[in-house]
Amino acid sequence: MSLKIEQNFSLKAKNTFGIDVSSTYFTKITSIEELQEALFIAKSNQWPFLFLGGGSNILFTKDFEGLTIELSLKGKECIKEDEHHYYVRAMAGENWHEFVLYCIDNQYAGIENLSLIPGSCGAAPMQNIGAYGVETKDVLYQVEALEIETGKMHIFSNEECRFGYRESVFKRTLKNKFVVIAITLKLNKIPVFRTEYGSIQEELDRMSVSDLSIKAISNAVINIRQSKLPDPKDLGNAGSFFKNPVISLDLYETLQKQYQDIPGYKTSNYVKVPAGWLIEKAGWKGKKIGACGVHEKQALVLVNYGNATGNEVYNLSENIIQDIKKHFSIELEREVNIY
Ligand code: FAD
Ligand code: NAP
Repeated sequence: MSLKIEQNFSLKAKNTFGIDVSSTYFTKITSIEELQEALFIAKSNQWPFLFLGGGSNILFTKDFEGLTIELSLKGKECIKEDEHHYYVRAMAGENWHEFVLYCIDNQYAGIENLSLIPGSCGAAPMQNIGAYGVETKDVLYQVEALEIETGKMHIFSNEECRFGYRESVFKRTLKNKFVVIAITLKLNKIPVFRTEYGSIQEELDRMSVSDLSIKAISNAVINIRQSKLPDPKDLGNAGSFFKNPVISLDLYETLQKQYQDIPGYKTSNYVKVPAGWLIEKAGWKGKKIGACGVHEKQALVLVNYGNATGNEVYNLSENIIQDIKKHFSIELEREVNIY
């Protein structure tokens, strides 16, 4: 057995919230063989296990009593092409944003709107990461995943991933049953620019971009994100803490009578309401409670000002959920994975 397993390992530097918890056992795997060995050890000892990418979508509320497996499988390449597409494969441990930049450098178009999202490529299909009108599901060709029970590799097509809004089969029915080893994206040779969403066009104008390109869109997205979102290096957070709720048209119209300015994005009989607006309207934006709080520029992001515990952040999120329910009859759902 060659795998290095550390004991009572601090996870503080391994989660972007910066929550100070420890894992009874910790290992970092760099090959599939090491992953299989780690799983064998965990199973033999009946240790629970936890897969970790960049730790940017996790809130730890207690020490993890088991084996944390950091996935550091590396490698990215274009594996094939056809008339209109490049098929680009990334191993699970590749950093997502570096992968986006690599695709842009090679003129593989389609994920430029997903620039600067923290975390790993392996986690991208977990919650179907999305931003500025593009989601993983729009470009995903296949996911290669190892079945934990049998140790066998499976290939999931886009359809089999059962993607939804910040959802996939891996986050629901197959949670803890598969570990993502690699993803392959089907990217365009001729770019389809997506600039209609949010303030992309405004930022492109501000940048005086006359010759639109995937690089320009990526830069615009990076600028917007840097101006709005706290960098986890400076202020612990896990991005949007809650999903944007999707409510019935009836409830939306009822709310509109009371709140004429309530934003909503309609799809057939449903309306997606920005959770950040609800939280701000209820007066939470910028509120600091103990060592944690609601970010002053983006109410959807909960932050750790230094020494917050996971439970403090969790309790804050619970209070917000209850308050939003009281004000708007909408039940917010957490996007962040709670451990
Ligand atoms: P982790 O936090 O390490 O893991 C998340 C979950 O997936 C855990 O349950 C973990 O066990 C599991 N997991 C991780 N890797 C694997 C694997 N290979 N196989 C099986 N299970 C695995 N998200 C968006 O969708 N859009 C955004 O625009 C966005 N912006 C963000 C901005 C900031 C500042 C931050 C901090 C976060 C943001 N996020 C966003 C959330 C987060 O970056 C993504 O969800 C990202 O994909 C998480 O990747 P990760 O590697 O850090 O996952
Ligand atoms: P924003 O532009 O202020 O918009 C607020 C919300 O309204 C967004 O969350 C978005 O929902 C929705 N929205 C805006 N324009 C829309 C349109 N044309 N059609 C449909 N829905 C629209 O949002 P922001 O907070 O600055 O974030 C910008 C993008 O980055 C969003 O896509 C957001 O999801 C993503 N982001 C995600 C995280 C995370 O951790 N998950 C963190 C930061 C940013 P959607 O969320 O459905 O896009």
